[in-house]
Amino acid sequence: MHIDLCKIAGMRPTPSRIIAAVAFVAVFSIAAFAQEAPLKSITYRLSMSRPVSHLFEVSILIELPDQLKDKPLELQMGRWSPGRYGVFDFAKNVQEVRATAGGTARPVRRVNDQTWSVSPLGATKLTVSYKVFGNDLSGTFSQLDQRHADYNGGSIFMYVVGHKPDPVKLEINAPAGWKIVNGRTDRLGQTEWQFPNWDIMIDTPTEIAPDWTQDDFDINGKKYHVVVHSFGPEGGKRAALVKDIEKIVRAEVAMWGAPEFHEYTFLIHFAADDHSGDGMEHLTSTQIIQPGALGDPGMYENTLGTVAHEFFHVWNVKRLRPEELGPWDFTRPLATRGLWIAEGFTNYYGHLMLRRAGLWDDQKLLNREAETIGGIESAQGSRLMSAEESSLSAPFIDGSPQAQATNLQNTAISYYPKGELIGMVMDLLVRGRTAGKSSLDDVMRAMYEEFYLNSPNSSYYLRGRGYQTEDLERVASRRSGVDLGEFFKRYIRDVEVLPYDEAFAFVGLRLVKTQAKEPFNAGLSIQLGSGPLIENVRNNSPAEDAGLQAGDRILSLAGKEVTTDWLKTLARFNTGDSVPITVKRDRQTIKTNIILGQPERFDYRIEEKPDATPEQKTLRARWLTGS
Ligand SMILES: [Zn+2]
Ligand SMILES: [Zn+2]
Repeated sequence: MHIDLCKIAGMRPTPSRIIAAVAFVAVFSIAAFAQEAPLKSITYRLSMSRPVSHLFEVSILIELPDQLKDKPLELQMGRWSPGRYGVFDFAKNVQEVRATAGGTARPVRRVNDQTWSVSPLGATKLTVSYKVFGNDLSGTFSQLDQRHADYNGGSIFMYVVGHKPDPVKLEINAPAGWKIVNGRTDRLGQTEWQFPNWDIMIDTPTEIAPDWTQDDFDINGKKYHVVVHSFGPEGGKRAALVKDIEKIVRAEVAMWGAPEFHEYTFLIHFAADDHSGDGMEHLTSTQIIQPGALGDPGMYENTLGTVAHEFFHVWNVKRLRPEELGPWDFTRPLATRGLWIAEGFTNYYGHLMLRRAGLWDDQKLLNREAETIGGIESAQGSRLMSAEESSLSAPFIDGSPQAQATNLQNTAISYYPKGELIGMVMDLLVRGRTAGKSSLDDVMRAMYEEFYLNSPNSSYYLRGRGYQTEDLERVASRRSGVDLGEFFKRYIRDVEVLPYDEAFAFVGLRLVKTQAKEPFNAGLSIQLGSGPLIENVRNNSPAEDAGLQAGDRILSLAGKEVTTDWLKTLARFNTGDSVPITVKRDRQTIKTNIILGQPERFDYRIEEKPDATPEQKTLRARWLTGS
């Protein structure tokens, strides 16, 4: 909007243009007033008087300036919230929206799926109240039950349309004996918060329960809190977990430099429900939910992996961000080309930081990357969808609800693993081509300085401004002294296989491709849990030729019942063999044969080159240790 005004200001005025400009400015200022003149105050009150009902009770107290007391005010639930880009329509859980002024009801009208209009009818103090259902423990939704309240603001707080930039106050009325904690808590027993705007309020997930624990550590004058709420046995592992989290924080701070905050809170749930699992980044906290108990095998290590990823977001995504990532328009899905940087690079560094923190050894990291290469290179979507297109498809692929069948398993790739591999290959190319003088670490720091620390604020929401993918191309090219235009064209905007060999050679490593366990291609994946069901049929595959489709229930495969051993059953066969399969689809029983094709899946291994030079080994050590 202000760009148009600048253009008008820059025009050489002719009489008619002056009139047009004056008219435009007049219209603009009226519109701008409605959009931008702040309300006198906005206070959110959150109660939870009946946890068993899963209903959060929200009241929004709005003080209106005199000019607005006769105008309808619109309030909206976001269609999605930052960090997860599927469209969830939080309004579907809202009920009993009411408005009152001075104890008298005011008219409330639902305008569309996400918007309510409230008429103050001359009152300057208006209270809008509603209930919102929440029974999902996650980084996006909210849960209220007899054990706790754990909320993510985007799923429970409406915003006043046109007033997201206004300061807001929050008051929480917790059940007796329940303690409140979030990433902006200054003292124990705190029940009120002041936020500069609605966006920062919903960036502050909050846990309220009688029995969470808190462990703290300090690094260079910054305070870190590890808040844990366990719904299963911890196996005495919590103290060690906190120590290892500290190692991760130290490794990441060593790369980026001092973080901007004074305090940071890890909010960790061990849900022990075998289904909830999530991690979500915020400016001064993260919300991590693990499906098991801390004492369960593998859960400890899993948690550290999530911690390394989420804490890296303190810089990459929360502060250094694609232009479209804040402030947001919650009336439509997000469209950004940059999630392969925001999420993919974070995946890459999350793994690399476990190595740099001393929690993984070299081989463990290399095995993980080889596994990611195997996943990406055997996915049909890798040859159909670029990293940028994957990012633009985020509203469909990021845990989105799918009401109808899709072919996304065969056509899409995730910007998480794809971006992870782009990050690793770019890092090695920059290191190699500059003989170790530069790295992706340098590039990311340079981006952080240019866009976050040193740019004037582009909005009310946050310091600095966002970047476009071309900005990374420019900064990385400058740092490496090599034009990365071709790299971006081929591997990021197009779907070519990344130059793994060139990248690994710089650090004396090589990628070895071997045949996967099954020496053939059947073209289907099977879900055993609620099945056995055919989970996916690859396009143009033997399973597709046999007329099979996703959702078919398998009665027998090669004359046997399908169990966890089904791949072993098939391993007796070879390319060209005919394997009988019987499936049930709706009320029909279908007998058919899969004629096994040439293998399409491969395993990958990253190993040392026999002729690796001392220089290459040094470069590798510097990459892996961050020295
Ligand atoms: Zn909790
Ligand atoms: Zn992430």
